[in-house]
Amino acid sequence: MLVTGGAGYIGSHTCIALIENGHSVVVADNLSNSNKDSIEKIKHLTSKEIPFYKIDVSDQQALENIFANHHIDGIIHLAGMKAVGESVEKPALYYTNNLVSTIMLVNACLKFNIKRFVFSSSATVYGENKVPFVETMDLLPPANPYGETKIMCERILTDIAKVNPAFSVSILRYFNPIGAHESGLIGEAPNGTPNNLMPYVTQVGRGKRQYLSIFGNDYLTVDGTGVRDYIHVMDLAEGHAAAIEHLTKGVHVYNLGTGQGTTVLQLVKAFEAANRVTIPYKIVDRRQGDIASCYADTSKAQRELGWTAKRDLLSMCRDAWRFEQNFQEA
Ligand code: NAD
Ligand code: UDP
Repeated sequence: MLVTGGAGYIGSHTCIALIENGHSVVVADNLSNSNKDSIEKIKHLTSKEIPFYKIDVSDQQALENIFANHHIDGIIHLAGMKAVGESVEKPALYYTNNLVSTIMLVNACLKFNIKRFVFSSSATVYGENKVPFVETMDLLPPANPYGETKIMCERILTDIAKVNPAFSVSILRYFNPIGAHESGLIGEAPNGTPNNLMPYVTQVGRGKRQYLSIFGNDYLTVDGTGVRDYIHVMDLAEGHAAAIEHLTKGVHVYNLGTGQGTTVLQLVKAFEAANRVTIPYKIVDRRQGDIASCYADTSKAQRELGWTAKRDLLSMCRDAWRFEQNFQEA
């Protein structure tokens, strides 16, 4: 199995889940947002060799070199840029990176007759649909190039699969992955100031940042703060293994979430209770582009993949905190 973006946050956990299910894994990553250490840690945790290629996935020649050297029976494509704010500032970079890499990868798959393809999409494609989000809903254009790249990649993959019946695609729409591997060795280590809630909370927990800014408490939710469907990254990783193992002909779309909505304040309280730390916070203005509520209808993944998220919010908080404490960055 080739995992693109396998050195990154979701990719490194996905490699572990795949290896635990008996797959051999090859990783391709340009390390633009990750570090080769994560590959060493996966090897340590699984006691398996992992061929690693530091390449840009849009480099067709480099991809073909991998396909010529390894027996690749499927692709899990997670390589991509993911910062919403940066995508607004640098749209050309996001469209080039996220679209070209996907197209090049599919071209190489068709040339080498690789039939199984799993793609990382996002709940952002649902925009402001009514919750819970169901796979059959019309997609609403998100107001940023990052979200557009996800919608466009979904369409590109669907069109290509339509005329190549042997090429099967599973599109996974992730909700909000948080937490870390139970070992505390791998997790989410964003560069600079975190954009996402959980890495910000853990950095406040260890005193790297003074307080959490909560973006708005005037949404129509139980306590006024935004609702999201947080999913343990290892559950998400196991969802990839289920998706590739159950992949049948055609294009299939699955929500990977828990189906449970949690507000920002509920997450902060759960984190404090799980880890016995205090998270000071201030309520500030809403963040531009945020929606009030986002959670999944997970019944399709349960029915067709036999997959459901097993880990609860307390485990997510405990595992995120364990990784933060092990993470040595000052
Ligand atoms: P990440 O940044 O930790 O991992 C992405 C990896 O891809 C990084 O290791 C980066 O170096 C690599 N990469 C980027 N462009 C590349 C290219 N052209 N060639 C080779 N490698 C490249 O991010 P993540 O959170 O693990 O996200 C993985 C995927 O899941 C992304 O496609 C992201 O858009 C998607 N996703 C993430 C979330 C989330 O909340 N983390 C939610 C929905 C979807
Ligand atoms: N959030 C917050 N403070 C932060 C980061 C996020 O209040 O420093 C809120 C945000 O408004 C949203 C939720 O936490 O309601 C999850 O945000 P995140 O950026 O993690 O995920 P996304 O918005 O992409 O779903």
